[in-house]
Amino acid sequence: MVLEIVRYGHPVLRKKGERIEGVTPEIKKLIADMFETMNENHGVGLAAQQVGVAKQLTVIDVREITDRPSTLELDGQPADVASIMPLVLINPEVTLVGDAVKGGEGCLSFPEIYAEISRPGTVDVKALDAKGKLIAFRCGGLLARAVQHETDHLNGLLFIDRMDKKTKAELQPELDDLQAATKKALAKK
Ligand code: ZN
Repeated sequence: MVLEIVRYGHPVLRKKGERIEGVTPEIKKLIADMFETMNENHGVGLAAQQVGVAKQLTVIDVREITDRPSTLELDGQPADVASIMPLVLINPEVTLVGDAVKGGEGCLSFPEIYAEISRPGTVDVKALDAKGKLIAFRCGGLLARAVQHETDHLNGLLFIDRMDKKTKAELQPELDDLQAATKKALAKK
């Protein structure tokens, strides 16, 4: 089922996600719905907060993006990125590695707003997968960026918090409009 994506201004986007204690049928359904919702909206990643659920769960799939490469290492060996796609991360722990690199980002909760964001180029990730099995990998490129963007969501952080001051100031009128529209729509519900 395609779910409604909540937009900037909705309080759930600022909530830290609760840890998931088990991959219950409800969690499995949520994962399936999140993939459907992400694919429908041509996203690279989607966090549970973005469908109104404050839990430590995100889904990622970078395969559709061919002009921005990703790298993957499993047990210290280079591996095929596609081998772990589509990716489900439950209760992820991310360790930042390497120097910051700039790259373009958007967010399904911020329609038509894009910005260059500086983030570490490589990350180590530990999480549970869709079956509740522990997975660990190192990644770079677009996948590292997506992992950081999505795990930020799980902690109530948004990409606007990572923008430099000048970029955010330039986007502020659009951000204010979006926030106001979201709040207005919520008040009507
Ligand atoms: Zn986002």
